[in-house]
Amino acid sequence: TSGQFSGKIAVITGAAGTIGLAVAEHLASLGADIALLDLQKDKLEDAATKVRQYGSTVRPYVCDVTDAQCVNSTTEQVVSDFGKIDFLFNNAGFQGAFAPIQDYPEEDFNRVIQINVCGAFHVLQAVARQMVAQKSGAIVNTASMAGVQGPPNMAAYGASKFAIVGLTQTASKDLAPHNIRVNAISPAFMGPGPMWDMQVEKQAKAKTQYFSTDPETVAKQMIGSVPMRRYGNISEIPGVVSFLLSDAASYMTGVNLPIAGG
Ligand code: NAD
Repeated sequence: TSGQFSGKIAVITGAAGTIGLAVAEHLASLGADIALLDLQKDKLEDAATKVRQYGSTVRPYVCDVTDAQCVNSTTEQVVSDFGKIDFLFNNAGFQGAFAPIQDYPEEDFNRVIQINVCGAFHVLQAVARQMVAQKSGAIVNTASMAGVQGPPNMAAYGASKFAIVGLTQTASKDLAPHNIRVNAISPAFMGPGPMWDMQVEKQAKAKTQYFSTDPETVAKQMIGSVPMRRYGNISEIPGVVSFLLSDAASYMTGVNLPIAGG
């Protein structure tokens, strides 16, 4: 296919999810060939079918990012299938429970850190090794505004996203000598849809001074805290990712760009 990213190979994790799929479709529309990685096989097949409509080569890979061996073998398989990796959108993530820290379930804390931090590290490391060998590449990690200012009731998620910002800064320094840029995006409240509804409901159920116990009021409180007075649409994310991956951002590395309505 022809396009800005024609001939480029992109790896996307969490590719069966809302943001991963939206970014995959956008990069495919710009001509990139895409390796889609996710844990959920059926959703992944559906995502691959959607992304193929843009005409580029798309291959699904079932891979649990918490399993370093699986990440390494999948990365090798991607390189053997596509020949190289130009772009990584390191995006798989899990929100976890909503509870004040004194009640936060330990098991859930460990799970969130395993997926969001260890998983992101495994993928970053495996793909960086390939990019170092190629002497080029661009990476975008999905952080969150929860990794910029710790939100109430989200101890694990907030900590995990602060870690992503840290990983981004360190990786950007380690990989700069190898012509590889590493940046992050930090979406805030995105909607409409199940993620928005779940967040609103869980904050209401957490019963803290920060939010009402009525979900409709919580939604108003959240939107009221945004200078632009609305939540972001998923469609407002992919263009920021493609910008950071593109040569338009050739002198940007180690940056965390908020997508947060101010
Ligand atoms: P989503 O739940 O729709 O997608 C997440 C995807 O990650 C799912 O398809 C899931 O199967 C996959 N995944 C989970 N654990 C995995 C594992 N161990 N191995 C491989 N894949 C795994 O959620 P989303 O909103 O698309 O989230 C994408 C990223 O954006 C996450 O990192 C999330 O923390 C971040 N984020 C989302 C929002 C939001 O409001 N939607 C805001 C800020 C940041």
